[in-house]
Amino acid sequence: MEISQSLAELDWIPRPRLLALRRLGIETAEDLLTHFPRRHEDRYQFPHFPREESDVPICLCGEVIKTSLRRFGGWKKIFEATLEESSPNALSEPLVCRWFNLHYVQKMIATGERIVVFGKPRLRGKRICMDHPEFEVIENDEEISIHFRRIAPIYPATEGLSQRALRSIIYRLLNEISDEPLETLAPGGLVHGKRCDAIRAIHFPENWEARDAAREHLVLSEFFAMQMLIASRRSDASTRVGQAHCGSGALLDKFLKALPFELTGAQSKVIAEIRCDLAASHPMNRLLQGDVGSGKTVVAIAAVLLAVEAGYQAAFMAPTQILAEQHYAVLWRWLKPLGVRMALRTGARQEESFLSLVAGDENADVIVGTHALLYDTVSFSNLGLVVIDEQHKFGVAQRARLTAREPAPDVLVMTATPIPRTLTMTIYGDLDVSVIDEMPRNRGKIVTAMRDESKLGEVLSFLRTQLEAGRQLYVIYPLIDESEKLDVKAASAEYELWRERLHPYRCELLHGRIPAAEKQEIMERFRRGETNSLISTTVIEVGVDVSNATVMLVENAERFGLAQLHQLRGRIGRGEHKSYCVVLTSDQSKETSVKLAVLERTNDGFEVAEADWELRGPGDLLGTAQSGLPVLKIGNLKTDARLMRRARAAAMSIFDADPRLELPENQRFRRLVVEQQGRTFSNVS
Ligand code: ADP
Ligand code: MG
Repeated sequence: MEISQSLAELDWIPRPRLLALRRLGIETAEDLLTHFPRRHEDRYQFPHFPREESDVPICLCGEVIKTSLRRFGGWKKIFEATLEESSPNALSEPLVCRWFNLHYVQKMIATGERIVVFGKPRLRGKRICMDHPEFEVIENDEEISIHFRRIAPIYPATEGLSQRALRSIIYRLLNEISDEPLETLAPGGLVHGKRCDAIRAIHFPENWEARDAAREHLVLSEFFAMQMLIASRRSDASTRVGQAHCGSGALLDKFLKALPFELTGAQSKVIAEIRCDLAASHPMNRLLQGDVGSGKTVVAIAAVLLAVEAGYQAAFMAPTQILAEQHYAVLWRWLKPLGVRMALRTGARQEESFLSLVAGDENADVIVGTHALLYDTVSFSNLGLVVIDEQHKFGVAQRARLTAREPAPDVLVMTATPIPRTLTMTIYGDLDVSVIDEMPRNRGKIVTAMRDESKLGEVLSFLRTQLEAGRQLYVIYPLIDESEKLDVKAASAEYELWRERLHPYRCELLHGRIPAAEKQEIMERFRRGETNSLISTTVIEVGVDVSNATVMLVENAERFGLAQLHQLRGRIGRGEHKSYCVVLTSDQSKETSVKLAVLERTNDGFEVAEADWELRGPGDLLGTAQSGLPVLKIGNLKTDARLMRRARAAAMSIFDADPRLELPENQRFRRLVVEQQGRTFSNVS
């Protein structure tokens, strides 16, 4: 049997099961064999029934001695099954399993049956109960050895396909398939043993050690395949035809001399790294990570100037029109005096722009724009450098599109969303990474405090002392959808409230539905200090830079994610004054207080990112879809980071020695990469 064989060709799988499998995306033998268990149950030996509650779910086995169905509140029903421990000498109490409003359970469980349950025991009155446990009825048929008296696999559930049915099908398939098709995917130096053994052992392990070893093998193989894809992209990019795009640096020196501040050590270091890349003839593919306010723009300008001086065009892309315009304004201020020609392209909304500019100066040295730069008719005559700001909003595919031209331009992508280090090697694994890990000096401290909504009075008087001291204030509202009329109305109503609260200080309202030109005027008045306070949605999240604004109040902070709160907080602490961020919430839940406490604890974006990742569910892959990587079937980017590092090192060393995978012994890896590319295809588009 081939691994790619369609399950439909196996006559022993009944059609309804085939359809259920198809719903899970399982079509081939390989799909089924790599439909990995989400956990295992030790069904050799069960613990005694507990007498106490537990937060850890446990697996128990017992005989049903009683069932009952009770109604409450009219149409609602509780089905209860009382279990007794099977071993005769048990001193333990019976266990009551309860299901609410699940009438099908009642049809599946009857007195006298033996069942295995998995759940958290809870004390309810004097009874030990399990509410909505996972369960399986043990049937004494010839198949019992597949399901019982072993470590049994428990699969991701699906409707119309019981654990028992799925387990039987996989068991039979494992018996029918020989070892050869299950070719080991990773090099022997990385994984132990053979893939065929690991696949067998992950489904039906002999013992826990075998299960763990099998999992490690499979996770390493999966990670290795992923890192091979990443390494191949990296290798493709760097072996493409490029050019050197680096001037002598005279223009850059002029710019640096005119700056009103000294570069930080980190900025200088990163500029040097970029300069090396620009001077090399292979294309640059570099990610610049730096917290909000760390001064990435200056670094980008440095890169732009080096390219322009060498006679090339530079494109500077931002994810939104506002940001593109802001960048344009900043770049204009610095580059015009140096005689650099500039153009702004923001696509469809051009007419709304506050800047009255010529649309398409194809001879401009620097073209600033949004995604529109990807698609529209701008034909760069001589593109040497592409700077992409806020990379997390761009996908790999978009990036590829921009850089597909020949000869390849140098690419610098910048992100202010620090990413946990262990994720960087995957999501941005095909890029070289530079980090600005130092803030400009003379930055005031930011103090962050979480307050309950009921303390608004105290908070208000604090805000007033700050306004009296001449500082400015942001009040931020979490409007989920800027296009919602309702939300805009809510913000407008709040705005009226704030005008009263802060009287006689002047407020203005800012949100996404205000036309761009007006928005810009509002920002301008705030910048000049004519307005003391901005009541705003998250439109000010990125890029805004007013150093006298040192106070931020975030309303309904529980509705923001940690990363976004950190971004918002980056709007303050930009001048020499001490800054204050107050996060208000009326949400008393533990999750919210744990989340917001992270902000109180640290201002370091990397720490925030790590904590954010830690707090979110393990399923969250933080943009892996955008990164154009295959979906993981068994590995976990967070908890298996150690294995990812090993897989990455192995993949890198293969490509270091053989960048085009030409050696005969690397042909199987070449096939692996091609196959991975096929898998990601649907992800990328
Ligand atoms: P971000 O990394 O968030 O894009 P910016 O590039 O917008 O940050 O820089 C934030 C502010 O810090 C800007 O006003 C910029 O002029 C200023 N800045 C940048 N580098 C330095 C420095 N080395 N010393 C002092 N101020 C700096
Ligand atoms: Mg920036």
